[in-house]
Amino acid sequence: MLARATVYRLRDWGVGRQRGWGCPIPVIHCTACGAVPVAEADLPVVLPAGLDFSRPGNPLTRAEAWKSAPCPQCGAPAERETDTLDTFVDSSWYFARFPDPHAAQPVGPAADGWLPVDQYVGGIEHAVLHLLYSRFVTRALRDGGLVKVSEPFERLFTQGMVTHETYRRQNGEWVEPAAILFRQEGAHAAPSSARRASRSSWAMQKRCRSPSAMGSPRPRSPTSTGSTPPGCSCFPTRARS
Ligand SMILES: [Zn+2]
Repeated sequence: MLARATVYRLRDWGVGRQRGWGCPIPVIHCTACGAVPVAEADLPVVLPAGLDFSRPGNPLTRAEAWKSAPCPQCGAPAERETDTLDTFVDSSWYFARFPDPHAAQPVGPAADGWLPVDQYVGGIEHAVLHLLYSRFVTRALRDGGLVKVSEPFERLFTQGMVTHETYRRQNGEWVEPAAILFRQEGAHAAPSSARRASRSSWAMQKRCRSPSAMGSPRPRSPTSTGSTPPGCSCFPTRARS
């Protein structure tokens, strides 16, 4: 008789990003010793302030003062890793840190009283990507003796994507949805403050992540394309007895 099996497809995950934000990778590259972990006493590595984003590429590669560091092993001049971690890495375990945010260890003893998280709310991409990463990382934390739970969340609620039509002029300027007059179905006219703009100068945008287009969101199917999620939340809500 065939047994039912659950198959997980957690593929290789590129966690290094060439950006000036995210979680620093605590590694120092030495020409003699190779890639050497930063000493635990020197953690966390903190990214420098005042990075120059005016040029393409990773600004950390140009942050010479931050980049230069002695090799933890031989003391020779060496260089910090300038890639940072994908933000999903940190979001795959922050719920274990939040119950005890001032603990000396990454996960404090209070976490055992709070975990797993009762209710996890997120967009559809969280149902496979972040959820699977979190479960993987939680098992690693468990195997490392940092948490007792094997599963980070008790329940998942996928709220779908919240999207809304957005509007901008041909010059790229965003316009509040409330300022648009709808004369007939499917037609859009300029707001009173910009009556001189011709109707053809208005372009309807499909994306929702715009600076001034978040009014009156209209929920749509989770499979809507071209939209961005409103974020997720997965905080422990009560301590367990
Ligand atoms: Zn060295």
